[in-house]
Amino acid sequence: MERPRSSRPANQSASSASSQPDGVCQKCRRPVGDAATFCPHCGRRLDPGSAWFYHPIWILVLALTVLGPFALFLVWKSSKLSAIGKAVLAIAILVYTGLCVFFTYQIVAMQLEHLSEFNDVMRRIKSP
Ligand SMILES: [Zn+2]
Repeated sequence: MERPRSSRPANQSASSASSQPDGVCQKCRRPVGDAATFCPHCGRRLDPGSAWFYHPIWILVLALTVLGPFALFLVWKSSKLSAIGKAVLAIAILVYTGLCVFFTYQIVAMQLEHLSEFNDVMRRIKSP
């Protein structure tokens, strides 16, 4: 019955990603099996960091499509990644974000240059 991890105080607040402490649902406090994904009594997900969007592949897909650097939140909360995996994924997302910012800057700078050339041409046409 007693497991080594259960030395923590019972009233410890659920700190999000710390998942399932002592085989007890954090919502209804009733015992659940170790292999259960959801509480059989209240239906709460037992390991919040294990939802589909915390899977490394999905984190990457979401980072590259809609979330960008906001996907770092998923990396942080995921329970499906090791510390090294989190570091690698976080660096990849930051590099991708940096590249996006860099290329956006390049494109804007190029457009401003074209606009400046266009203004010069227009000025020459107006005042011969
Ligand atoms: Zn429950």
